[in-house]
Amino acid sequence: MINATHYVLDLETMGKGPRAAIAAIGCVRIEQGVITESLYRRVCLESSLQVGLVMDASTVKWWLKQDAAARAEVDGSQPSVLLPVALAALEEFITEDKALVWGNGSSFDNVIVRSALDACGIGNLWHFWNDRDLRTLLALYPEAKQVPFEGTKHHALDDALHEAKQLLAALRLSCPASRALPVEQIMSQAQVYASACAIAGTAFDKGDGMDTAALEKRALRRMLEELA
Ligand SMILES: [Mg+2]
Repeated sequence: MINATHYVLDLETMGKGPRAAIAAIGCVRIEQGVITESLYRRVCLESSLQVGLVMDASTVKWWLKQDAAARAEVDGSQPSVLLPVALAALEEFITEDKALVWGNGSSFDNVIVRSALDACGIGNLWHFWNDRDLRTLLALYPEAKQVPFEGTKHHALDDALHEAKQLLAALRLSCPASRALPVEQIMSQAQVYASACAIAGTAFDKGDGMDTAALEKRALRRMLEELA
């Protein structure tokens, strides 16, 4: 299972129900046991409400108590895109037909994205039988929760990256043979990182070269740390 293509979704929302208004979308791709790419979109909250998604007071009150860095991602102070635009980006990002899509809770991220897709008239991005729930897996392998958090909690991308690391840790625990990463896999990631560095700042850089290089560096570091 660890060598499948996985997508880890994390939403920041203004509600808790199946039609919660989306404020940010984070998603991370895992291929062959390695985090390979990520997507992050802040979503214009009004555009979520315009298609019929809903806010609830208790979630808004909860946000008011969170750290300023997390709040700044959902309070409209930063550039954002309309919900259909964010979902279109997610549609481009989830390319693998057999992808396993992980939400944090069986009733949260995947369900809310499906509602949003439906509200925007966009078809499903993955097969329903490939829905996966990280909370259930972490209940089975609680040691995987010990992965240290990097970044800002309740930032959709930082959360998604953290959940992806927890997922990999849990999958390795579930399959002892995959705990030891083969040297070839690490050599391959070193090549990916070197290529990302070579492109950053050149004419081939689409504007995210430095971010991509940093992501690849973190992936390489994690693999090396596991060997240490
Ligand atoms: Mg989150």
